[in-house]
Amino acid sequence: MTALLSTQLTHHAAMTSGVITIDIAAVVTNYRLLAQCVAPAECAAVLKADAYGLGAKQITPALYTAGCRTFFVAHAVEAIALRPLLPSDATLYVLNGISVKAVAECAQHGISPVLNTNEQARYWLMNDIAQTAALQVDTGMSRLGISLPELSSLVQDFGSSITRRIALLMSHLAIADKPENEFSEQQRQTFLSASLYLPNTALSLANSAGCFLGANYHFDLCRPGAALFGIHVSDRSLPLQPCVQVNLHIAQIRQVAAGTSVSYGCTYHANRPMRIATISAGYADGIPRSMDNNGGVWLGSQRLPVIGRICMDSFMVDATDVPDSELYVGQQVEFIGANQTLEAIGAASNTIGYEILTRLGRRYQRQYLPFIE
Ligand SMILES: *Cc1c(COP(=O)(O)O)cnc(C)c1O
Repeated sequence: MTALLSTQLTHHAAMTSGVITIDIAAVVTNYRLLAQCVAPAECAAVLKADAYGLGAKQITPALYTAGCRTFFVAHAVEAIALRPLLPSDATLYVLNGISVKAVAECAQHGISPVLNTNEQARYWLMNDIAQTAALQVDTGMSRLGISLPELSSLVQDFGSSITRRIALLMSHLAIADKPENEFSEQQRQTFLSASLYLPNTALSLANSAGCFLGANYHFDLCRPGAALFGIHVSDRSLPLQPCVQVNLHIAQIRQVAAGTSVSYGCTYHANRPMRIATISAGYADGIPRSMDNNGGVWLGSQRLPVIGRICMDSFMVDATDVPDSELYVGQQVEFIGANQTLEAIGAASNTIGYEILTRLGRRYQRQYLPFIE
């Protein structure tokens, strides 16, 4: 992907915090690898939070073309925005559920809820809504979903009509990223017990990391999100392609004397005469504030360490050792890419690649490398 990037900063890019390059062909390649890995189970795509910040509008049609027919987002508003991009044979679920007040509107749009509470499930079963729904059962995440006793009483009260009205029984794994942890197996057993109540209903348990736990975890439908975007979710992950590169640029260069302080709080003092480059993005662009005095950006094969605190729209790096010919205002530096992966940034700033990706914000120029069938 790096080879495809122009190193020249365009006029437009210079007016933004930086450039995010999203390789849609790589997302499709990852989808196909995941689909192969989980076959004969179906492989869905989780595209919540605007496809993890990368652009659901651009990514959804490519995944449909690649054969994906089931999509998940978190909120009804996300689903309403995506639905027009999908043909009617695609199912679009809302993971966080739909309040009973919004059920009719969502049904009009052809959007399927994940029923997470007893109230939602009973409302759904008591009203004849011409739409598929999923029912979530909690097996250990303690987040969304009804309990097994609640499922049992639903089945008692509504009998076989549940099977007709509920297309999918799902649950969510809490620690699938640690394959050796036995809690996943406990969750799987609880999920199997839940499935006995709805013997003819399709089942879904696996997130990205769950896809790599083996066929026992695949059931009828898998729900990867992060792995589609090349995030390395566990040590058992397939070798997936990176899909995103984030380049920032140099906004100013200055020479400072030893002892000069840098950025808010004066937490850094130059220990020698230094050349400092001010970079075009800050915490409002998802540069973690915890990268103060420890993160870095890359200029070619050279790492420029962050000095001082990260500001809202900029931060400073030590560029003392960069040759003059490479150091100029407008020069691009890599924040996420071949030299510095999402996972590495996450680890260095006490979070995960998921959070880095979804917090990049709206001030970048986004360019898409297309998927051409
Ligand atoms: C976010 C989410 C997923 C996808 O998780 P990844 O770890 O990104 O693959 C799957 N299922 C549910 C219920 C989710 O909330």
